[in-house]
Amino acid sequence: MKNFQIVRASSPSSALASSAKDSAKYIAGGTNLVDLMKKNVTDPDRLIDITGLDLKKVERVDGKIRIGALAKNSQVAEDKLIKESYPLLSLALAAGASQQIRNMATVGGNMLQRTRCSYFYNTDLPCNKRQPKSGCGAMEGYNRMHAIFGASDSCIAVHPSDMCIALAALDATVVVEGSKGQRSIKFADFHRLPGDTPEKDTTLKDNELIIAVELPATTFSKNVHYLKVRDRTSYAFALVSVAVALDISGGTINEARLAMGGVAHKPWRLTEAESFLSGKPASAEIFRQAATLAMKGAKSYGGNDFKLTLAPNSIIEALTIAASK
Ligand code: SF4
Repeated sequence: MKNFQIVRASSPSSALASSAKDSAKYIAGGTNLVDLMKKNVTDPDRLIDITGLDLKKVERVDGKIRIGALAKNSQVAEDKLIKESYPLLSLALAAGASQQIRNMATVGGNMLQRTRCSYFYNTDLPCNKRQPKSGCGAMEGYNRMHAIFGASDSCIAVHPSDMCIALAALDATVVVEGSKGQRSIKFADFHRLPGDTPEKDTTLKDNELIIAVELPATTFSKNVHYLKVRDRTSYAFALVSVAVALDISGGTINEARLAMGGVAHKPWRLTEAESFLSGKPASAEIFRQAATLAMKGAKSYGGNDFKLTLAPNSIIEALTIAASK
């Protein structure tokens, strides 16, 4: 690992000022960044420790829930407001990583974690995301974990977070601060598809700092489920995951939210299936039709062919469990 400086920020503005010098990165829980530094995937000259900033609260503000960027994953998963009003988020957080990692990992860091594609972490192998224009080892190689939606000729990696799949389904907003002040980014616009520039995971500009995530008021407090299919029960990334939130009355779906993880470079929202479900009975046949719609345009790469079957079956299973609550 390369030598680096570490400085402590006392405010968002001091963090921004420090980040303007050298090649700098913010560090909070460090549960992904330290691994990346150990493997020389990233080698900042300076780390800006932001753990002292006042960004750890979960609070109700103007009818929304505001989650500070430095709130710990375990803290948010167990928060009374979140468990009561946004149980989908609580379930998704609890499905991520291990209890020890959830105790360290922050909401902001979770959103910025990098793909777990094994070629990305091995500096001896080609990877357009780590080294632009070097090639994509996974395209013709080991791609069991990789994307079936939204991939490009440059990169077929997937976004690894569970928390972000629920935040996408819940229409969250990300509040960020940069040199020109604060701005809000819709969660659907925060993560990117790879296109020709897979090295960019998000639409953050320069050294913008994530301040908070805001959740709008919802009616999705009962019929929700987060289904995570993985190789082992604990501490494994999703092969496929599905976040479902349904508003059902008298057996009819008033509104549906659906998002998938483990299938694309960003949380993959199933908007066409959501529209289809609206006003329909919560039945097995309707769920099957929604899953078929959701799979339009899916493409596999050999090692992940099984996802073309696993994904629609997971959608049906998640919808069935959510509707039965
Ligand atoms: Fe790199 Fe993306 Fe290809 Fe993986 S899929 S090797 S992250 S370019």
